[in-house]
Amino acid sequence: MLRFAPSPTGDMHIGNLRVAIFNYIVSKQRNEGLIIRIEDTDKERNIEGKDKEILEILDLFGIEYSQVMYQSENVRFHTAMALQLLVEMKAFNCFCSTEWLDKKRDEAKNSKTAYRYDDACASLPHELVIDNENPFTVRIRKPLEAIIVKDHIKGEIKFEPNDIDSFIIMRQDKTPMYNFACAVDDMLSDISLVIRGEDHVSNTPKQILIREALGYSKNIEYAHLPIILNDDGKKMSKRDDASSVKWLLEEGFLPSAIANYLILIGNKPPKEIFNIKEAIEWFSLENISKSPARFDINMLKHVNKEHLKMLDAKELSRYVGFADVEIGELAKIYLEEISTTKELKSKIKLIFSQKEILDELKESADILTKAIKSAPYFDEYDDFKNYIMKESGLKGKNFFRPLRVLLTGSEHGPDIALVYKYIKNYIGEIVK
Ligand code: GLU
Repeated sequence: MLRFAPSPTGDMHIGNLRVAIFNYIVSKQRNEGLIIRIEDTDKERNIEGKDKEILEILDLFGIEYSQVMYQSENVRFHTAMALQLLVEMKAFNCFCSTEWLDKKRDEAKNSKTAYRYDDACASLPHELVIDNENPFTVRIRKPLEAIIVKDHIKGEIKFEPNDIDSFIIMRQDKTPMYNFACAVDDMLSDISLVIRGEDHVSNTPKQILIREALGYSKNIEYAHLPIILNDDGKKMSKRDDASSVKWLLEEGFLPSAIANYLILIGNKPPKEIFNIKEAIEWFSLENISKSPARFDINMLKHVNKEHLKMLDAKELSRYVGFADVEIGELAKIYLEEISTTKELKSKIKLIFSQKEILDELKESADILTKAIKSAPYFDEYDDFKNYIMKESGLKGKNFFRPLRVLLTGSEHGPDIALVYKYIKNYIGEIVK
């Protein structure tokens, strides 16, 4: 079983979507299920409705999953297992106050050393623990030996006991800390491989320690994906518009193209343009580069254009707001000039909107408009053109410049004869 474990705390980031796509691909390759686990235990950071939004995005990208679960539903198991660890003395109650711990943390900072809990409560006498009415957290005892994480992308990483520390697994209010909830849930869901962002690498030995303490012996594999950098070589953050999946969709990037791009970067695919289904045939975590991937919007535009070219006329027409094969064919002619459906939509909209005519073209445009309005229906562009030319008495530049503007809203663009083929039934709507 694999899992994608988003937190419902903000818009979906492309890094998270990449994690979801990779989990989906590998779950298909291994013929295992994929659980979507909404990590909603941090009540203060949860944003209402984000869970639904995440699921909608997954659907849009064709990421099939076997189950959706909410981490908060498992809290009773987290509590029971923390209790088990306490009984077995693998965890202990810590009565150190937040203020005291903050002070220790500041001291460490001032002396430029990494803060570590000093295990002050690790071996309190039993009576002191039982009769103590002060608030307490629950900490797991740090390991005696180093923990080695074997990662499909990063190779082996060794964590010393001090890197892991005797860390808190239950807060004072007895809600589970993230690492504890996550480690227990992965165990309860029988997860075989965890694919997630590399910001979680230092959590992994802690989660391994928790499961070992609980007596769980199944080995869970790990793959931590390198971060995605922006143009400035910094980690892509909320400040970068393109980091938001919603923004990219609104900008007119197709889900299939975004997915293609996210699989392509930092990878060694056999070809540049593909869909998720094809990637299932050749994708391998071992080919993912250890170094960060760089987000390049121009490359994404190129990939998007190629995916737009693969759409048939009817699909394309829907993307530009029509349900009409002819408009789809018309849109196809414009594909060389645009890279997103948003840009395409504005090209098509321009054709159907009131045209802005330069002063120098106004006179000839008026004459042409009259001629066009008087014209019968012509199937062929040449017949249409000959008729209008004759009616208007205009020719050469004086004829073609305003004609193109009247028909398309622009002085530049694709071959007008080709455009005419798909707009001939709408001339009345186009030239008003
Ligand atoms: N909820 C975590 C996140 O959104 C993911 C944790 C995990 O995959 O283990 O970053």
